[in-house]
Amino acid sequence: MNDISNFILDLHQDMMRGNLPPWRAEAALLERGVESPDHFYPAALARRGYIEESTGEKFSHLQVMEKPYLQPWQCPKDGIVYNLEAQEMDLSCTVCRSALEPYNGPLAGYAPLVASYVVGLEDYISYCGRITVKGDVDRDFVNLTAMGPGMSAIGLARGCFLVNRYGGAEVQVEPVAGTARCMGYVFADQEERRKARDTIQANLERIKALVNERVAKVGAEVVQVEFDMDSFGPDYFLYICFYADVPEYRAHGEISWSVGEARQMTDSILKEAGVDFNLSVIPQGYDGDYKPSPSNRRGRRVSAQVRIPVKDMEKFLGKPVDRFLAFIEMDRRGVEKLGWFFYTGMGAEIISGLYKATRVNPRMPLTACLERIYAFVDKGDLVYGVELPTVEAGVWSSIEGGMPPTGREVMRIMGLTNVREFCANLAAQVLAGEFNLASEIVREKLYSKQVNRLY
Ligand SMILES: [Zn+2]
Repeated sequence: MNDISNFILDLHQDMMRGNLPPWRAEAALLERGVESPDHFYPAALARRGYIEESTGEKFSHLQVMEKPYLQPWQCPKDGIVYNLEAQEMDLSCTVCRSALEPYNGPLAGYAPLVASYVVGLEDYISYCGRITVKGDVDRDFVNLTAMGPGMSAIGLARGCFLVNRYGGAEVQVEPVAGTARCMGYVFADQEERRKARDTIQANLERIKALVNERVAKVGAEVVQVEFDMDSFGPDYFLYICFYADVPEYRAHGEISWSVGEARQMTDSILKEAGVDFNLSVIPQGYDGDYKPSPSNRRGRRVSAQVRIPVKDMEKFLGKPVDRFLAFIEMDRRGVEKLGWFFYTGMGAEIISGLYKATRVNPRMPLTACLERIYAFVDKGDLVYGVELPTVEAGVWSSIEGGMPPTGREVMRIMGLTNVREFCANLAAQVLAGEFNLASEIVREKLYSKQVNRLY
């Protein structure tokens, strides 16, 4: 055990000196004669020590698993091979419930739980390098993610290394995010609906003032009220959607309660004016909540780009830069051919990984996963960038609901102190991950016979 402590310290120091990439800790231990699977735990500890020393922040809520690896088992009846977490107590086949037996076939071996595992008992957190961002947000972040079992975390770390080499990710973060909630009325005929619309428009200033008074709590302000109409069968619909700008927070709760109250006020106004309506509601569709639509105006636009001299890029690719541009276009059109309106590539994995690791609301980052990718040549440089049009995020554990200490710990260690930094880091990570993936595909390094899963 003494030996192991020395190994951990050695590895940790090698990482600090820049002689050992943190994701090579497992390989370094095997080279020193530590046997698999005993090398996984000290590798995770060495990496954790490296992160703690380099950030000056300690992990206190997130624990390192003693057996951070997968173990292969097989069902004797139906032959299914299971890679189960080494801590798993239920060793029965999920299909036939037979007791599993250790698998000793040709692919037998232990595999890491997740690439570059650092901490976490339920969400497995990996280290995926550091990223420098500049522009609207200027700082360095340590990236921690909960991205799943594959090699993605290492690919992401590699992408960050490439982006940093060329000066980091230049980010643009919109100063305010959008939030929206809609009130809706159903009428028996068009004439009543027209009267209602005119009455609401005539009283709009005081209805809006009520909403503004409530959303001021999160620094938000109504910037637009949109009227829209539709009908189905005997029903005539009127939508009145309130859009507010909000500098911090996601403000979903505040806009919901305030528009709800505004609806009650509007009901009274309509009744006083003698306007008949069949139903007064908050229609959930129109405001765009969780709706991946090009006209969804919730969230914040954020982008990140990097400039790389064309000659460096061509050397790296081993082919003309035009081939890289052609690939980006081919990929983009592929998505359009499916009828989808935005790209969602590796970014979707990276974005959900960050939401999961930080536990930032909304936990289902569906709309935040929309992205655009662009690439062009300008003044001898390849410019490669990503744009995330609708990132919904509220970082604080307060008015928007609780956030577990583990999520707060991940943000503290990453260096994220507010929602703009969260968005800047998110875009920079997506840039790095997508850039690495696109480059590797164009270099024909991925999806080949030589590259297999780890297990
Ligand atoms: Zn079975």
